[in-house]
Amino acid sequence: MEALLEGLNEAQRAPVLQKDGAMMVIAGAGSGKTRVLTMRIAYLMQQGVDAFNILSLTFTNKAAREMKTRIGSIVGNSEAKNLWMGTFHSVFAKILRIEGHHLGFPPNFTIYDSQDSQRLISAIIKEMGLDKDIYKYKQVHSRISSFKNSLITVKAYFQNPELMEADAMAKKPRIGEIYKEYVDRCFKAGAMDFDDLLLRTNELLARFPEVLAKYQKRFQYILVDEYQDTNHSQYLIVKALADRYQNICVVGDDSQSIYAFRGANINNILNYQRDYDDVKVYRLEQNYRSTKNIVEAANSVIEHNKTKLDKVVWTANDDGPKIIVHRSLTDGEEGRYVASNIFETKMNNQLQHSDFAILYRTNAQSRAMEDALRKREIPYRIFGGLSFYQRKEIKDVLAYLRILVNPNDEEALKRVINYPARGIGATTLDRLVIAAKQYDRSIFEVMENIQHLDIKINSSTKNKLYNFVNMIHSFKILSENADAFTVAETVARKTGLLQELKKDGTPEGIARIENIEELLNGMRDFVEGQKEIADATGSLSEFLEDVALATDMDKDIDDVDRVSLMTIHLAKGLEFPYVYIVGLEEDLFPSGMSMNTRSELEEERRLFYVALTRAEKQAYLTYTESRYRWGKLIDAEPSRFIEEIDEQYLDIQTPMDNYRYKPMIDTDIFGEPDKSKLRLKKPVSGSAPTVGKPTEDQLRKLRKLRPQSNSQPQTDDLNGNLSKGMRVEHSRFGHGEVLGIEGVGQDQKAEIHFQTGGIKKLLLRFAKLKIL
Ligand code: ATP
Ligand code: MG
Repeated sequence: MEALLEGLNEAQRAPVLQKDGAMMVIAGAGSGKTRVLTMRIAYLMQQGVDAFNILSLTFTNKAAREMKTRIGSIVGNSEAKNLWMGTFHSVFAKILRIEGHHLGFPPNFTIYDSQDSQRLISAIIKEMGLDKDIYKYKQVHSRISSFKNSLITVKAYFQNPELMEADAMAKKPRIGEIYKEYVDRCFKAGAMDFDDLLLRTNELLARFPEVLAKYQKRFQYILVDEYQDTNHSQYLIVKALADRYQNICVVGDDSQSIYAFRGANINNILNYQRDYDDVKVYRLEQNYRSTKNIVEAANSVIEHNKTKLDKVVWTANDDGPKIIVHRSLTDGEEGRYVASNIFETKMNNQLQHSDFAILYRTNAQSRAMEDALRKREIPYRIFGGLSFYQRKEIKDVLAYLRILVNPNDEEALKRVINYPARGIGATTLDRLVIAAKQYDRSIFEVMENIQHLDIKINSSTKNKLYNFVNMIHSFKILSENADAFTVAETVARKTGLLQELKKDGTPEGIARIENIEELLNGMRDFVEGQKEIADATGSLSEFLEDVALATDMDKDIDDVDRVSLMTIHLAKGLEFPYVYIVGLEEDLFPSGMSMNTRSELEEERRLFYVALTRAEKQAYLTYTESRYRWGKLIDAEPSRFIEEIDEQYLDIQTPMDNYRYKPMIDTDIFGEPDKSKLRLKKPVSGSAPTVGKPTEDQLRKLRKLRPQSNSQPQTDDLNGNLSKGMRVEHSRFGHGEVLGIEGVGQDQKAEIHFQTGGIKKLLLRFAKLKIL
């Protein structure tokens, strides 16, 4: 107990020591909210509360595991294992396995990932004969997803004329029918998608009072981290479960609410006091994570938001270095800057790669960073890209395993029925789908009875289907006694999957085989791990559940020390000594799509606040002058968020002096840089990096947010009377000789041979030429 409280300041102790009742901890980043939650659980257990009676909901499963380990070290691991702890999705998937039968779902239901959902929706659109350019499957999927997260069931949809009218107005009057068919098909396949895990839980608790009562009694203490980002569906679940005891503790920070675009509702925090009796509100003010410079810089930015609760965040930590602001010409150069900075900082300070994180607004930005890190041979890891389990070969193996656990799983079956090729073509599959509808059975059930059914499939194909069914049956028998690893290994060999990849022989094929081996290794570890857990057996269904809910965040692919790359959304709750926030440009961050309303812009600003507050020792903000967007090179402006930081916390560098490589760029006729021809000159000898205070001019420029454009028309005094043979100077290309003039008026161009840049045609209207 003493030890437990020692690591907490006075303000943090109060919510830990209040055993019962409803409470809320509202506090800024890095003030110990997650630590309070962890310690509160340990304290409850020390007070004799049974781990089985505590429900704790976290933002990632990884966070849950870390909390469990921490709690285990205080109260003992065997007890900590019994805590109900994880993301909303993982905890309620577990409950739905036990209770789903009330809703007609088997305990072995499959969890469809978004790819499965989209494939099914796409198939339905096709079957209904709809125009796939109007009914775009991704859009339809997100529309259905938003219905589900607002608890609008199919029935509710058809009772809501406004929704139907909105879809009709959008020229998609049949959305409701697609929704209905999708829900029916998932149901028949014994599958739930991600949104169902919340929707069905709500349905379960609302329709079956005895089930609700059971879990209300079980979860005597409920704790929720990152409460500001719960959506309506999650909010209702928590509210229903906490209703009996009202021992509920939520922690959050309204300034870090960054999921409104997915339906998270900041009002959940604001209304909390109305939802429960006698709510105690605690505030934490001391930040333990970051330097003064970082904490105060973050405060100065978030000040610009109008909608926020009043909060104080201060730190007793050192000032630390100022936040470095770095400008580059292109994203390639930005990547090189970050990579070499990491390299040097690590060497000079004896650090680990894991001390560094690169954060960006959109996934696409990772590529330039990856290229640069690879060149420098710096190991890195991308979170939230294509997760290991999303790779094709892995999904193929998993699809077979899913069929073993749930033969009705339509998406898994479609995926591998003819992979590796076994002569079951698309037409056959179409006929099976139609028959399944006609007999009201799953496709697999139709296949099991194929010999007796009157279906237009010839007998040789029927035989192939029959063989497939037999193969699956034999695996299934094996799976009844063998563990997940053994089954998977057999499947990989006997289905011909490994054979197929070996035949391929390309490096990609070999990499795929290695991935499958990696999967099998992972399964072996999983089976070993499960042995420690009381009622687990290491079975296939346990493994599949684990995988379905694993985000990339949750898996440590290996123990190599790596730099972390991720979007800011994924970085929530994490901390790193050195953080690079890249691509700080208008239209990118803040995102061009989120600047239409004040509330959207404020969400972007909160996102920036989250990013900046991940840094412990040093933060870097980088931006480029031009960037490829939608296939075009465009001029970029520094993000307004840089300007919003109080200048005293910034160290604005002078990139062109600072950078040893002077990029040389070919331009198109408008004098715009042509990135496809971008190349680097040899290092300029003697131009050592100069880091230092910005000049007044630099500061002014940054404050104005507009770097002086290179493409201002300046023809009058510079380019007049140009003729062949003249020597000229260009601001970027240096000295050259005019080879010829062509065109008239606005279109007049000069062909010039530059000493270093070769021959270029420049539009005189734009080119800044000085006659020598
Ligand atoms: P975020 O808003 O980013 O989720 P948070 O409020 O949850 O942050 P924590 O992650 O719990 O903050 O704590 C931030 C850091 O400060 C952690 O490294 C934590 O271990 C440390 N910390 C918190 N409280 C204390 C304390 N009283 N003494 C020492 N270190 C502390
Ligand atoms: Mg936290």
